[in-house]
Amino acid sequence: MEKRLIVATANAGKAREFKEMLPMFEVRCFKDLGADCNVEETGATFYENALLKARAAAELFPEDYVLADDSGLEVDALGGAPGVFTARYAGEGASDRENIAKLLSALEGKADRSARFVCQLVLLSPDGEITAVRGESEGEILPAPRGAGGFGYDPVFFSKDLQKGFGECTDAEKNSVSHRGRAIGRLLEILR
Ligand code: IMP
Repeated sequence: MEKRLIVATANAGKAREFKEMLPMFEVRCFKDLGADCNVEETGATFYENALLKARAAAELFPEDYVLADDSGLEVDALGGAPGVFTARYAGEGASDRENIAKLLSALEGKADRSARFVCQLVLLSPDGEITAVRGESEGEILPAPRGAGGFGYDPVFFSKDLQKGFGECTDAEKNSVSHRGRAIGRLLEILR
């Protein structure tokens, strides 16, 4: 029987990617289960925030494996910002469009547009064992959005691996090189 894995996210884009990449688990996200978990992301690192989310999910689902992800964008010309503030770069509750607008204006006139997506995963087993893995994906911030695929900052991220934007590729192409795809690949190696 497939093991049930609860993914601690309310983000539909992330949930879809986890389901595609973890077919050996019965993956359920918070939305599927009618659960809600508003964890304040007070950590200074992606790892601390992922652990906060995983622990909160484990309290709700103590019998299951739970997986939490904290991810974001690090832009070199901005000293690694927005980093852990990626989701709320343009303010608490900001939309993807507002976040992207702020990023593009912060980079105006800057020659170096190199950036990477980072994904930190924390898996907690029902007996509290922690497995932590990280994945990164290098690229550049485009001068304007391109393509209609993906979510979040995808329309302005040009992937070094794919030589096209994350907004312009298929889900399978993105998953093969993305920060989340790489982190999940590492997790699967450990689980095997
Ligand atoms: P989190 O939910 O706290 O991990 O916030 C992650 C932030 O990074 C959100 O603004 C997401 O939209 C963004 N993000 C994370 N992964 C991706 C991705 O694969 N593509 C585009 N944006 C992403």
